[in-house]
Amino acid sequence: MRIVDVRVRTVPISRFADPGIGSGDLDTTAVAITTDARRDGSPIVGLGFSSIGRYGQAGLIRERFAPRLMAAGSEQLAGERGDDIDPFRAWECMMRGEKPGGHGERCVAVGALDMALWDAAAKAADRPLFRFLADRLGRPAAESIPVYAAGGYRYPGDDIRRLTDEVRRFLDSGYTHVKIKVGAGPIAQDLRRIEVVLALLPGGDHLAVDAMNTYDPDSAIRVAQALLPYRLRWFEDTCDPLDFETHARIAETYPHPLAVGEALFSAADASNLFRYGGLRADRDVLLFDPAHCYGLPGYLDIVRVARANGWSRSAFQPHGGHLFSLHVAAGLGLGGSEANPVSFQPFGGFSDDAMVEGGRIGPPVAPGIGFETRAGLQDIFRSLLA
Ligand code: MG
Repeated sequence: MRIVDVRVRTVPISRFADPGIGSGDLDTTAVAITTDARRDGSPIVGLGFSSIGRYGQAGLIRERFAPRLMAAGSEQLAGERGDDIDPFRAWECMMRGEKPGGHGERCVAVGALDMALWDAAAKAADRPLFRFLADRLGRPAAESIPVYAAGGYRYPGDDIRRLTDEVRRFLDSGYTHVKIKVGAGPIAQDLRRIEVVLALLPGGDHLAVDAMNTYDPDSAIRVAQALLPYRLRWFEDTCDPLDFETHARIAETYPHPLAVGEALFSAADASNLFRYGGLRADRDVLLFDPAHCYGLPGYLDIVRVARANGWSRSAFQPHGGHLFSLHVAAGLGLGGSEANPVSFQPFGGFSDDAMVEGGRIGPPVAPGIGFETRAGLQDIFRSLLA
């Protein structure tokens, strides 16, 4: 199988269900990789995007990584069958000549293409990605996994009412656990937000809070102390992601779970986090995003590093809240997955007809990742291919 075309487009996305509310000019890059293989009379096309939260990556994809894929012959890309595509081999083609370190957001550009390569490979095998991935890694696939609804960004006006409505909407859809943001305003306001959401939930262990790496070291420790009485499910992204000393200081005085790793993109960074971050493998949560850390090959390296440092697969809850992360969590037997039912549409969330049951959800069984099961995404990818 060869790659005959790579289409790329950066698309605006919003943190809010109402995209009219300002959201910091966030965007993501959609990619479509067309192969020379055909199924049911049409070319096999792999679809992907650069996950959520790190801005689009069209420049690096167009100028550096897509040309390497296009230049690769079928003998460099094929798997064991010969007429298929091996995403691990394709990843080697993309990364040829890249120097170690200096990850920047290069890893996000590679991750977007890697997502589309896995979609194409699973479609060529006529398998949903989670089963294809589990087969490839020689392990059982989970047919459903725990998910939690993420959102709760601070609204610029009428925040408490809108936050309450948003969380009620999550619970009405069947979600049992939620995550909201903190750190965008004074701590007293964040505690008020936490209390109104807790009033809708059975207990603190159903609510996680995410500070989006905004706190300086002293504030992070002060806020952790203020959160202690709520016994929350976890406190996420407390400080600068590379400030391992502050991570360790927080862990010394905050006995409840911390969640980390969303903004670390390499196995070397993960290794330093485990070595110096003071984390506790019996309770803390690992959020590494498979699309942000050089795609699945990079993510699997991080899982290996974590396992070697005493972490179990159940500690992983990949960031993203979209179909790809859901497949990865189910295919690798991880602890669960984020869900973005209202934010970052139409990339966030799962199939249009997906049902959350008992706080769990199964990936679609359509071949590949199943982006075709989301009408809004179908529109974006169709126009990209037109
Ligand atoms: Mg986060």
